[in-house]
Amino acid sequence: MAIKHVLLVGGTHGNELTGVYLIKQFEQFPEIVRRSSFKTSTLLANPQAFQLGKRYVDADLNRQFRPQDLADPTLSSYEAQRAKAIYQQFGPKGAQPVDLTIDLHSSTANMGLTIILASSVIFNLMLAARLVSVNPDIKILYSDLSIDDNPYLDSISKFGCKIEVGAVAQGVLDAALFQQSAALVYAALDYVESYNQELSSNQSNFDQQRGTDSLLVYHRVGIIDYPRDEQGEIQAMIHPRLQFQDYQPLQPGDPMFLTFAGETIAYQGDSTVYPVFINEAAYYEKGIAMCLTEKRLLNF
Ligand SMILES: [Zn+2]
Repeated sequence: MAIKHVLLVGGTHGNELTGVYLIKQFEQFPEIVRRSSFKTSTLLANPQAFQLGKRYVDADLNRQFRPQDLADPTLSSYEAQRAKAIYQQFGPKGAQPVDLTIDLHSSTANMGLTIILASSVIFNLMLAARLVSVNPDIKILYSDLSIDDNPYLDSISKFGCKIEVGAVAQGVLDAALFQQSAALVYAALDYVESYNQELSSNQSNFDQQRGTDSLLVYHRVGIIDYPRDEQGEIQAMIHPRLQFQDYQPLQPGDPMFLTFAGETIAYQGDSTVYPVFINEAAYYEKGIAMCLTEKRLLNF
């Protein structure tokens, strides 16, 4: 099936300016995201949060897209309403249904250039493999969510991913990360273009002719919260030796936190993991100090 409509999204979190200003740039110069075989649309997802310089107004927009929540008329926060409006416009039964959604984010953690996949449909894996072949520094972060558990905006279409770049502070533009994000978007659009063209020349034999491929992914296996007291107050910081060490191996016994009393708390697990989103500013309120991943090779 050809990709007929691609949606580029920024400002799902209003204080992640890389995505916001990429969308503004694409809207000012639409020819840079135009390709011949499909339509490209752009969306500033949470304009009110952007105006306020905040991640969200009432609730995290990027947790509002579970099917049962979209269908729940009692959910009426600003972001719940935005999610329903976005879904009604671009979702499968919407006015302008999209086939692929690329949602642009930034992180205060040292995520480099990360593609986050929430589903392992083959097209997503092929797209990710292409982007890694264009830029080997790109990391693929993968969390296998069922459709019913997927709260993310990029789940409104059959295919989708998030681009997460960092480290950059909230409310701040970093020109290098901005340009690298833009290059990733162009590479993704070029891939869709070549995919469509190959599909039309091979007709229905595309899947049969496709060779097997493999992709190194960081598979999300858990989260770690900060040590907290009974009131929920954090009792420790990310250990200085772990700060900005996203995607680096963390061995059992390695330092993880430094308490305010000056004590080191070590990683207690029994196997090597690769932490990501270490010290992400937006995750303090979510009870997440970091996400743990394992390296896996996905064959497809
Ligand atoms: Zn974000």
